Amino acid sequence: MNFETVIGLEVHIELATKTKIFCGCKNEFGGEPNTHCCPVCIGMPGVLPVLNEKVVEFAAKAGLALDCKIANFSKMDRKGYYYPDLPKAYQISQFDLPICIGGHVDYKDGDIEKRVNITRIHMEEDAGKLLHEAGTGTAVDYNRCGVPLIEIVTEPDLRSADEAKAFLETLKSIIQYTGVSDCKMQEGSLRCDVNVSVREVGSTVLGTRTEMKNLNSFSAVHGAIEAESARQIALITDGGKVTQETRRFDDIKGKSYAMRGKEEAHDYRYFPDPDLVPITITDEQIALYRDSLPELPTAKKQRFIDELGLPEYDADLLTGERAIADFFEASIAAYNEPKKTSNFIMTDLLRLLKENGVEPDDNPVQPIQLAQTLKLIDDGKINVTVGKTVFEDVFKTGDDPSSIVEAKGLTQINDTVELSGMIKQIIADNPKPVADFKGGNKKALTFFVGQVMKATKGKANPKVVNEIVQEELKNA
Ligand code: ADP
Ligand code: ZN
Ligand code: MG
Repeated sequence: MNFETVIGLEVHIELATKTKIFCGCKNEFGGEPNTHCCPVCIGMPGVLPVLNEKVVEFAAKAGLALDCKIANFSKMDRKGYYYPDLPKAYQISQFDLPICIGGHVDYKDGDIEKRVNITRIHMEEDAGKLLHEAGTGTAVDYNRCGVPLIEIVTEPDLRSADEAKAFLETLKSIIQYTGVSDCKMQEGSLRCDVNVSVREVGSTVLGTRTEMKNLNSFSAVHGAIEAESARQIALITDGGKVTQETRRFDDIKGKSYAMRGKEEAHDYRYFPDPDLVPITITDEQIALYRDSLPELPTAKKQRFIDELGLPEYDADLLTGERAIADFFEASIAAYNEPKKTSNFIMTDLLRLLKENGVEPDDNPVQPIQLAQTLKLIDDGKINVTVGKTVFEDVFKTGDDPSSIVEAKGLTQINDTVELSGMIKQIIADNPKPVADFKGGNKKALTFFVGQVMKATKGKANPKVVNEIVQEELKNA
């Protein structure tokens, strides 16, 4: 039997509002445990939650960016759920009337354009965090309680771990562009529940699914899907049956374990939260939200191709992360050389970020500093090779390119008299390569250029050196 894997995702994204969803406490990652809390977010009886308007705005903007329909009328519901990090013993979420419905994400799996449909997006509150400390037991930090979340639920449209990863990368990029979340996975701002089933190729009915909750890296999502689909296929091939359940995926072992039977919606005893009024959003308000959205990655990419004349490859790489696209645009605003800027970002900046484990958001280089580096090269003050080391210094020290060039004496040597003298000497000292050159070995030319660059510590203008070496070799 040939199997196909079917995947649906529930993506939780923390919204970057200043305050929490139902109280005025700071919404900020980290902080001393239990310092961003108040009676409302730690669930004291008798307190009254008030919905933060920014949460509605951010959720609607995320929905608009994903082509969802924004509901004119929605409401908050209580989801009964006991867990030590959820002190009210229920979570305020949305059940039958979520804020966004429908929508889709177009993404590329390799070279192939694919689409994932969005079922819904709802608003809800995050739970706290349990800290399991060896020896001392488990502590709880309520700082995260009441941090606003949106949950994006997809249709079961994905067919492989690779598709899921590619879709998530696109989704993350779009949400980052809207500015409603930083999507920092290492801080838990984007977490994913993965639902997996398998079925015979050609079948149109869905198989029984299992769910793995709270995966916080794309590689964990990828690993969980591969491992779980292999497990289900082996089970069915052996004559067994998949049980609908929640499983825990161990990223390090690459295996999942049964945790508990899957609960059904009716187990949660959803009911409208009597403390919160329903949410009405007018069409005019929705139009305002739509107008306030920035240019999104697909549109930006197309503009980079059409208006700046960049190759599709460059435009793709530059627009993948908003921080990189913003950096690129600010840099060309200071020095309008799109292709040179793009080359430098792709080969040097992205490499330095990767090598140093720095996120694009924390890029230490100012856009103007890249513009200045490129201008120093174009003005003949430094050559390209030196430009690359100067840029590396800018990255490490934050100093301006011109001060680095000055402090390190890296100014390009363009002086033909000085270079001619040096070249004559090198030619005189190396009779063998001269003879080679005369004998028709053009590679000997590279040898002499190399010697000059070495003697000048890479500072000579390579174009000038090349011309003089050719000239002098003719005369030698
Ligand atoms: P919950 O998991 O909270 O009960 P839903 O029933 O809405 O919520 O389903 C959640 C996710 O599971 C959705 O992303 C949906 O696409 C996916 N899903 C549902 N059935 C299957 C299936 N048979 N195989 C794979 N994914 C599925
Ligand atoms: Zn609070
Ligand atoms: Mg689920």
